[in-house]
Parts: sequence; structure tokens; C-alpha cells
Amino acid sequence: MTIIRQETAVVVVEDDPASADVLQRRLQANGMTVTVGRTGADGLALIRESHPDLVLLDVGLPDTDGYDICLQVKSDGATADIPVIFLSARGDVFDKVRGLSCGASDYLTKPFHPAELLARVDAVLAQARKVRSPRLVKAPEASRTGR
Ligand code: CA
Repeated sequence: MTIIRQETAVVVVEDDPASADVLQRRLQANGMTVTVGRTGADGLALIRESHPDLVLLDVGLPDTDGYDICLQVKSDGATADIPVIFLSARGDVFDKVRGLSCGASDYLTKPFHPAELLARVDAVLAQARKVRSPRLVKAPEASRTGR
């Protein structure tokens, strides 16, 4: 069975051009549309404007930190449903807990393996789809068998 999926839109908020570039290419190679914000303010504007399916959010940003951006996304009714995955070089357990307590769906410590990134992206997207739209509902045929 072929699953036709609508192109997934991702906003990457990452100030490091090399990291942003790698992320963008990896995700695009997997059929996603990627927009990059280089600062927290840029990222937030992109998120509000385009309402993506997913946000990948760096913790260390030039103008603010990722936690603040995540809180702003999650506290705004218009964007609260967009899943956020943190990307951070800080692998400290308290940083992870802080990230998740801001409402993020996942937290990836840099450097991460591209396969792990994609697996987590897929898992978070699948979860978000389940919550938002039960599209796979089919009429049950089993009802005729009398059980
Ligand atoms: Ca950074």
C-alpha cells in the first residue's frame, strides 16, 4: 500500500548556518518543506505566519533562548498545537527537563545521528496527526459478521 502524504512543512530555528543547512537538506531529502529562522524573533514570525507541521528549535539563540520561544508558541492558542523538538548541545538532564516542561514533544542532543533525527521527527508528526485528525477511519466491515 502506498501512503500518499501531504508535504510536511517544518520551521527550523537555528542560528548556526552550517547546522541549519545540514538540517534543511536532510529534511528536504525526506520530502519536507523547510524554512529557516536565524534568530528567535525570525523563527517566531515564521511559525506564526506559516503555521508549520513541526518546529525544530535550537536552545542557544542570539536574541533569546529556545525555551522562551517554545513558551511563546505553546501559550498562543493559534500555534499551541504545533509540535516542537528541541535541538541542543546541552545534554544535561535539567536542560532536557526544562525543554520538555516548556511543552516540547522531544529533545535531541547535538551532535545527533541523522537517522535518529528523522525517526523522532516521524514519531512526533505521527503523534500530532493522531491528535488532530483521525484520517485513517474506514467503515468497519466486520459488523456484518454478527460479532
Ligand atoms: Ca545556537
